[in-house]
Amino acid sequence: ASHEGNCDFMIILCPSCKELMRANEQERHNERECPERTLNCKYCKEPFLLKNIKAHDEICPKYPMICEGCAKKKIPREKYVDHIKFCSKFKAPCRFHVVGCDTSVEKEKIHDHERQCSYEHLNLLLHFIMGIKVSLESLQPQSLEVASQKLQELHQSLRDLELKMSQLGGCVAAPVQGACAPTLTTSFTPLPSAMGAALELQLQSEKTKVAELSRRCQELELKVSTFENIVCVLNREMERSCTTMEAYNRQHRLDQDKIEILNNKVLK
Ligand SMILES: [Zn+2]
Ligand SMILES: [Zn+2]
Ligand SMILES: [Zn+2]
Ligand SMILES: [Zn+2]
Ligand SMILES: [Zn+2]
Repeated sequence: ASHEGNCDFMIILCPSCKELMRANEQERHNERECPERTLNCKYCKEPFLLKNIKAHDEICPKYPMICEGCAKKKIPREKYVDHIKFCSKFKAPCRFHVVGCDTSVEKEKIHDHERQCSYEHLNLLLHFIMGIKVSLESLQPQSLEVASQKLQELHQSLRDLELKMSQLGGCVAAPVQGACAPTLTTSFTPLPSAMGAALELQLQSEKTKVAELSRRCQELELKVSTFENIVCVLNREMERSCTTMEAYNRQHRLDQDKIEILNNKVLK
């Protein structure tokens, strides 16, 4: 029995991954094969579970990075931000990129770019400022008022649409006459300004959506009625079987009675 305690070929269970192995394989398993083993990060030397090491690489402060500007390698991640801040070859977006300049320039050439493109930058700035001016003007109180009025009109139109929608819904529920096709005619008075036209357009798209919805409602209704028919047929079938069953039972009882009577006669 003492042999069992340290036999090389005894089957043992890895406590981490629950795999079975012989005792003499345990060392290799723990160091190289167990999927649950821990490894030290190559860069920061901290221990991590094997399955977490890839994710750790993404955040390891010592992970070696490469500068895309000067091509310097093995910059530890924690020093990378400092490096690119001072690396004269690292390309950064032009300062005028907020107003639309798409150029990326090496830090040492940024003055050249700004001098060469000052005309373009000025142009971009002008456009930008004009844009701001226009949107500021459209934020004047009276135009806000007009907008809210338009919004109310839009609401009213939507309510009309909803009403029509519900009427349509009633028709779909009882598909009796053919007069109930989803005809959505415009009853809105045309709105005056360009904004009105935009709203009108939006309403138009809302109406398309509503029409699509009511079409789907009809499809659904059709499916439901088909289903109801099937259920109806099944119910009838069921009732018929029940009646037949009852008839059989009655017949059976009668037969039983007859047999009993006959038996009694025979026994007498
Ligand atoms: Zn043995
Ligand atoms: Zn294991
Ligand atoms: Zn690490
Ligand atoms: Zn660099
Ligand atoms: Zn620029």
